[in-house]
Amino acid sequence: MEIGIRTPLIHSLPLSQHSGCYVWLKMESSQPTGSFKLRSAGHACCYYASKGATAFVSSSGGNAGIAVAHSGRRLGLPVTVVVPETTSARARQLIEQEGACLIVHGKVWSEANDYALALATEDIIYVHPFDNPLLWEGISTIVDEVISEGVKPDAVILSVGGGSMLSGIALGLEKHQLGHIPVYAVETHGTASLNASLNANKLMRLDKVSGIATTLAASQVCENAFNVASRLDVRSMLVSDAEALHACRRFLDDHRVLTEPACGVSLSLLYDNKIRFTPADNVLVIVCGGASITLEEIAG
Ligand SMILES: *Cc1c(COP(=O)(O)O)cnc(C)c1O
Repeated sequence: MEIGIRTPLIHSLPLSQHSGCYVWLKMESSQPTGSFKLRSAGHACCYYASKGATAFVSSSGGNAGIAVAHSGRRLGLPVTVVVPETTSARARQLIEQEGACLIVHGKVWSEANDYALALATEDIIYVHPFDNPLLWEGISTIVDEVISEGVKPDAVILSVGGGSMLSGIALGLEKHQLGHIPVYAVETHGTASLNASLNANKLMRLDKVSGIATTLAASQVCENAFNVASRLDVRSMLVSDAEALHACRRFLDDHRVLTEPACGVSLSLLYDNKIRFTPADNVLVIVCGGASITLEEIAG
């Protein structure tokens, strides 16, 4: 059983005409919880359930927490999500709507996370938001699906927070002998943890993260993402908050889909013509989605 669904692969006419190449959108925004996290968390939860897990615990107030809550509900297993006081009312509502037990603990995420870790036992499984090979395996099916539809990408554009997406897509590309194609890994200036590590040539932790792309605000990427970025042709790209937001608005008009700024960073590479492609290039954009966004927030 998988909990994440097969998502549409759309040839974007507006983005193709704008960018002068073939732009393919993998619509992870169409996952039932609104983001690709259902592939990663869903895959991990199914695995642990098959090994006898009796409950799950998460400390993510974002898309990962929502995905764990959803997965537990589908598997008939209770889920506890521990979030800090800063978590928005909207995110809390989405987690509770999935039937999870929401505990608000601590001023910052690390306090909530410590509490969540303390709840875990041999049978009550803590599901990390990005650093676990099971998560990456779940995400790698994105590439399987694209290939199975006869599209062979010449480049991929994706967003980077903690690096599970980068890890999973790399796994999928290598499985299909596509490990050589460029992968544009996009962050905002305020959440540039991969960029900092690549510049320093070692895993770096940011002193602080800032800006609107809160879903990308991991202060450090997982070690595997850094290793992937060092081994493959991964090109680190940075965009501004304004560019990310602007891309979300244009995408809403072009494709009638509302996405978080965390997804807008990837789209803005194309909308703002930050890379040149040739007319024959098939460019795959992972439309990672995001549920913690409202029309009001995007309208600005
Ligand atoms: C989690 C998430 C990201 C970042 O993914 P990582 O695997 O943490 O790098 C980007 N966009 C959305 C919508 C997400 O939910």
